[in-house]
Amino acid sequence: MNIKETFIKNLEFISRHEEDFKIVRDKVVNVCKNPKIEEEYCDGICQKCIHNSREKVDLLVIDSYDGSEHHYRFKGSKNNINNGTNITTQKAMYRELKYFDDNLIGQEAKEDLEYYEKIKELNEYANEFFKKICKDCFINLNSSILPIRFHMFAINFKDILKEDQLGGQFLQQGNQNVVDIYHCYNRNIEEIQSTIRHEILHYSLSMKNYDCGDESAVFWALCKIYDAGAYKEMNNEQQKIYDLFWKYKNEEKHELNFIVRLAGSLDKETVELRNKLI
Ligand SMILES: [Zn+2]
Repeated sequence: MNIKETFIKNLEFISRHEEDFKIVRDKVVNVCKNPKIEEEYCDGICQKCIHNSREKVDLLVIDSYDGSEHHYRFKGSKNNINNGTNITTQKAMYRELKYFDDNLIGQEAKEDLEYYEKIKELNEYANEFFKKICKDCFINLNSSILPIRFHMFAINFKDILKEDQLGGQFLQQGNQNVVDIYHCYNRNIEEIQSTIRHEILHYSLSMKNYDCGDESAVFWALCKIYDAGAYKEMNNEQQKIYDLFWKYKNEEKHELNFIVRLAGSLDKETVELRNKLI
């Protein structure tokens, strides 16, 4: 078997699971033959460019996954190729096969696996964080019950249009609760982890029937402790509660669990006590 046939056979084998991969023999292709561009030839055929040309290649490999085209000529071809690769030795052939194997083939599966690993890591992080804050601040919540969903992008197209930057959401209706984390595909781990902390704080406060809104003092205080990015301004009353929180926290006489309840609880007794203290 000559080099060309060996190359094709190997390429067919390593790309056997790739639907996007096409191998075409003896094909006329469009190329840019600008002599000034030697190494990196012009990929797209430039509009109305005098160097545009059509020439026959021994082999055309198309990867529609990343939109790339690869042109080959082999030993025994009539003319050399200046827009692609000449493969004349076994060594060159294997070098080329290795390139496909490393960089192009299986890319989709590799990306799927990477995403799966990323979500697994984020899910573990979320559960660990929830366990930690249950221990610190919400001692009688069951730290193993955390409803959380990870989305590649926003939950639906409407949300993408509405608020592109929406990193996550704590969704609540009656007794139904869930933490939604958005844009997990594109954002880096640290950024998503910050969203996770932010939304889980909402969830935990809500589960305790504490004030769980973005503009509440207890939410602000916990976001400061756990670096969870509070962003909605507090009103005057919440500001006073926030100051009370830090007064108690800095005194170091009370457990964090107690201070969180004092600042956040919505039950009548605690609210009355709090109002006396601020
Ligand atoms: Zn929020």
